Amino acid sequence: MKNHLRYFYALLAIPVVILTRFALLPATGHGTPFITLFPATVVIALLGGMGPAILTGVLGVLISDYFFIEPLHSWNLGTEFLSRSTIVVLTSVFVGYIGAVLREARSKAEKQAIELDKSREDLKRAQTVALTGSWRLNVRNNQLTWSDEAYRIFSIPVDTPMTYESFLSSIHPDDRGMVNEKWESALKGQTYDIEHRIVVDGQIKWVREKAELEYEKDGTLSGGFGTVTDVTGRKKMEEELRNSRDELETRVKERTAELQLINKQLKEENEERLRTEQSLRLEEARLDALLRLSQISDVPVDKITGFTLEQAIALTRSKIGFIGFLSEDESVYTLHAVSKDVVKDCKVTGNPIQWKVGDAGIWADALRERRTLFINDYSKPHPGKKGLPPGHVPMDRFLVVPVFVDEKIVAVAGVGNKTSDYNESDERQIVLLLNGMWNYVQRNRARESLLSERQRFNDVLETLPVYVCLLTPDYYMPFANRVFRDLFGYYPDKKCYEFLFNRPEPSDDCETYEVLRTNEPQHWEWTGPNGRDYDIFDFPFRDTDGSRLILEMGIDITKQKQAQEALRSTSLYARGLLEASLDPLVTISPKGKITDVNEATVKVTGITRERLIGTDFSNYFTEPDKAEEGYQQVFARGYVTDYPLTIRHRNGRLTDVLYNATVYKNEEGKVQGVFAAARDITEKKITEAELEKYRLHLEDLVKQRTEELARSNKDLEQFAYVASHDLQEPLRAVSGFVSLLHHRLKDMLDDKTKEYMDFTVDGVTRMQSLINGLLEYSRIDTRGKPPEKTDSGKVLEEALIGLKMSIKESGAKIIADKLPIVHIDPVQLSQLFQNLISNAIKFHGDLLPEIHISASRLDKAWWFAVKDNGIGIEPQYTERIFLIFHRLHTRKKYTGTGIGLSLCKKIVERHGGKIWVESEPGQGSTFYFTIPDMEGDNQ
Ligand code: ADP
Repeated sequence: MKNHLRYFYALLAIPVVILTRFALLPATGHGTPFITLFPATVVIALLGGMGPAILTGVLGVLISDYFFIEPLHSWNLGTEFLSRSTIVVLTSVFVGYIGAVLREARSKAEKQAIELDKSREDLKRAQTVALTGSWRLNVRNNQLTWSDEAYRIFSIPVDTPMTYESFLSSIHPDDRGMVNEKWESALKGQTYDIEHRIVVDGQIKWVREKAELEYEKDGTLSGGFGTVTDVTGRKKMEEELRNSRDELETRVKERTAELQLINKQLKEENEERLRTEQSLRLEEARLDALLRLSQISDVPVDKITGFTLEQAIALTRSKIGFIGFLSEDESVYTLHAVSKDVVKDCKVTGNPIQWKVGDAGIWADALRERRTLFINDYSKPHPGKKGLPPGHVPMDRFLVVPVFVDEKIVAVAGVGNKTSDYNESDERQIVLLLNGMWNYVQRNRARESLLSERQRFNDVLETLPVYVCLLTPDYYMPFANRVFRDLFGYYPDKKCYEFLFNRPEPSDDCETYEVLRTNEPQHWEWTGPNGRDYDIFDFPFRDTDGSRLILEMGIDITKQKQAQEALRSTSLYARGLLEASLDPLVTISPKGKITDVNEATVKVTGITRERLIGTDFSNYFTEPDKAEEGYQQVFARGYVTDYPLTIRHRNGRLTDVLYNATVYKNEEGKVQGVFAAARDITEKKITEAELEKYRLHLEDLVKQRTEELARSNKDLEQFAYVASHDLQEPLRAVSGFVSLLHHRLKDMLDDKTKEYMDFTVDGVTRMQSLINGLLEYSRIDTRGKPPEKTDSGKVLEEALIGLKMSIKESGAKIIADKLPIVHIDPVQLSQLFQNLISNAIKFHGDLLPEIHISASRLDKAWWFAVKDNGIGIEPQYTERIFLIFHRLHTRKKYTGTGIGLSLCKKIVERHGGKIWVESEPGQGSTFYFTIPDMEGDNQ
């Protein structure tokens, strides 16, 4: 407390003391006047010290004396007062002293406590700043205490009870063994100062640990103190330091190496510079040569080599030299330049331009051994020296240098007869010069091939059957190919629309220049001034100098357009055709969907064309499966005809139809679909039913007629038979009586009458034979036997016996093949043969008759043929001759009745066969007849 405050309180205490004493007056009276002063003085002494206590004591005694000691309200400053005040003062002094001492002691203690707190705080802070925690081990009460920083380092909440084990668990597993080991040895007296890792919140930290252990007198461990420092930062720094030191070292090493290299290079450069300086003049000369070479490089190769050789000779101070090129496989060498001096002096005959490398002399060792060849004393013996050919310029020394490109020898140069020895400098000059030359030659060749390439490209453009041109943004045409020029002319100084259309400005519908706007290729159609249509392709194009152009290509598509137009009209035409039909027509895709129909289909189904198209065609039939099957048949065979189906109308009405369908193909022959036409057969069906009725009726009629006919035939036959039979008698009588008359009146009759009588006899005879024939004819059916198995060969033999006479007379030759067994009436077969063969004999021409009888089996019948070489028959008579009494000749020329063939016909027909003749006048005839063969196996 401040001094003046202490005294202020000392003074203040006095009124308090006095007032309190007044308050106590009723209880105490005026005895013990200092009852309140003492305690107050003691309090002031204790709180304010000795001085204020004395002040309070002295003043308090005075005032108390005045108010409370008798006589009241006066001071009794006598001995009593003095002793009283002395006691009070002394008491105050004593108490004040004691108070002061106590206060001192308290403030010291307080100070010490603050100091302690401060130093604790400082320690804590020091620990925090130093990242060092500490611990203390007390073995006696088994207490391990950690400082706050130690807890922080291990990231364990402060005041968590710790044991050695819980400490161990925080240590990095890899270091745990080591730490344990060290602690064990520390317990045995070793120093404990280690660094190890701990794992804190999943992160690794480095700590340094130190410990000092304390022992009892008997040597047992009593406790210890230790520190733990977080050295992660240092460790990291050390690591970084190590890294940066390593890096620095590497850099220093690199720099050193670089320096060494630079030094070396510098040294080399210095040397090189020296050398360069020495050969500068030579280089200049060579460069000059190369420069001139580059200027003359547009000339033919041989000029370049000639010039190079001159320079090579000059540069090496030689007298003579040559340059040659090697073939691709390095086996053949071609001379391209020889120095003038050699040519002048050379007396080698002939002009060998090419040599084989293998055959050449010692100089070619340069090629064979692939290295420069120095011969500085040619007169010395050399292995492989062949000697100079007679007439060659004399040689002192020479240098031959191969020129390499990518490890391949492409050329070779030789110089000779320098006055001093050839050295590397000469070689170098030639190598460099020749390399330069080779480059120029190559460049020349490249330019030539470029030119020819360009020419070829140009030729391609010129030959293309389409037009190609280039257009500038301002409508000029810097290029046009042949087709363009031929079509539209070519005017590079005119704008395209001027010379193409004679317009003052570009037309609006030209799409070419869209390319410049969009920078995209453009494709459009154009009708040229020649009226033809073009497919135009425009492309953005850059000229060699980068300027913008348009590349345009035009293909004449007039024909295609016409074809398209034709196609369009064809399809219109086809559509017209489709609609013109009254039958329902439909086209179907390969997938069975309707692609088109005509009005008739719409009518028959009652569904509109739009709704039919795209639907399944089989939907509209009463039997969709059958329709589908028919459709498959079309694909398998390419068509179907008269495929019966029934179409169902929307209202249920059914229409019977027959489908005719075919596939249709495109130009490549690929099936595009099916074209199907239906024919309404409702009408037809009705007609068919009527027809059937009519047919049955007709059949009845025919049956009736046949029966009638059979009856009438029979009657007729009967009649013929009766007639001929009954006629026989009177005829016989006539003929008998005429013969009698003739006999009797023979001598009396004149010649004329005789002749008449002969006619009569003749007529009667003929009448008889006619009647016989007729009789025979009518008997064929009535007297004919039922057919039986008959050996036709045998029958023929018998028939021929009957014809023996006439065969003999006529000298006829009869050839008969093996004939079959047939079902026939053998008597009638014999008649058949006799008639045909006798006719064949009778109607012979100039040749002796030759008759061939044969038979073969065909169509369930035996075909017999009787072939002759006679007069033949005019084609118009080949049918008529089979009629009864029909003949083609007079009786005078060929006898006969005209019954034979009609008999044959009747016989054959009776057996169910046919008879006919094939003949040509003058070429003979063949009579065929067939006999059905039911068994068919009796050949
Ligand atoms: P005929 O032999 O009695 O005249 P046919 O009925 O046998 O009567 O023959 C009818 C006619 O057919 C003959 O008159 C003859 O003109 C012609 N004819 C028949 N056979 C032959 C034949 N082999 N060659 C040429 N003509 C023939």
